[in-house]
Amino acid sequence: MIAFENVSKSWGSNHVLKSLNFDVQPGEKVSIIGPSGSGKTTILRILMTLESPSEGLVSVDGDVLWKVAAGEKPKETRQLRQTRRKIGMVFQQFNLFPHMTALENVVEAPIHVLGMDKGEARERAVDLLNLVGLSKHMNHTPPQLSGGQQQRVAIARALAMRPKVMLFDEPTSALDPELIGEVLNVIRNLAQSTDMTMLMVTHEMRFAEEISDRVVMFDHGRAVESGPPEQIFKNPLEERTKTFLRAVL
Ligand code: ATP
Repeated sequence: MIAFENVSKSWGSNHVLKSLNFDVQPGEKVSIIGPSGSGKTTILRILMTLESPSEGLVSVDGDVLWKVAAGEKPKETRQLRQTRRKIGMVFQQFNLFPHMTALENVVEAPIHVLGMDKGEARERAVDLLNLVGLSKHMNHTPPQLSGGQQQRVAIARALAMRPKVMLFDEPTSALDPELIGEVLNVIRNLAQSTDMTMLMVTHEMRFAEEISDRVVMFDHGRAVESGPPEQIFKNPLEERTKTFLRAVL
C-alpha cells in the first residue's frame, strides 16, 4: 500500500533520510519508533506531500506519488492530487479550524474537496463524532474543547475523507497525561475494527506494542530493524534498538 524505494531527503547538509527502503502492506498497522530527529515525521510529511523527497520513489496504493532522480527538482506527478486523497493524517497539534464547531470541522473537506452532498456529509460527520465519543460536543469550537477532545475531532475529520491510509504523527505528544488514554482508545478501536492501513509515529511504546502488526525502528534516516512487536520489544536483534529501548522504557 505504501512503498519508499531508495528515498533520500536532505536539508542542506542535514541528510535526514538516507536511501530509505520501507513498505507497508494493505491493512497493516505499523508503528515507527526511534530517537528524535531520526526522520520519522519527515516520512509522514512526504506521504502527505507536505514535503518532497530529494531523491527516490514513493508510491501509495500502486500510484507513484513522487519519483525524483538524483540532482533533479521534485515535481508533482499527474496523479498526486488523486493519490493524496487516499491518505488522512492526524497531526501532533490537532490543526483544527478554531472558529468552526467540531461538526463544521468534520464536514468541511468532504463538502469542499470531495463535493459531497451537504446532508450526507453532515450525517456522516455526526456518525464519526459519535464514533470518537463526542456526540455531546458537536457544536463546540476547539477552544471550548480539551486537547484530547480536539484530537478526537481531528481523527473524525481525517476519517470523513474515507482514506485508505491513516497517518498518525505522535498523536498524543501535545496532550496532558490524563488525556492521552481517551485518544489512544479511539486509535486502538480503529486499529481493531477497520481494514485501513495505519502508519503511526509514536513515543508510546506500550501502545505500539499492543496495536501494531509490525514495529519499525528508525535511526539516522534508516529503518534499522523491523519486525513484530514481540521481536522489537522483547528480543530486538539490533544493538541500536536495544540501546534506544533501554533509554525509553
Ligand atoms: P521527533 O521525534 O523529534 O519528532 P523525527 O524523527 O520525527 O523527530 P523529523 O521531524 O523527521 O524527525 O526531523 C528530522 C530532521 O530533519 C531534524 O534534524 C529536523 O531538524 C530536520 N527538519 C525537519 N523539517 C525541516 C525543515 N522544514 N527544514 C529544515 N530541516 C528540517
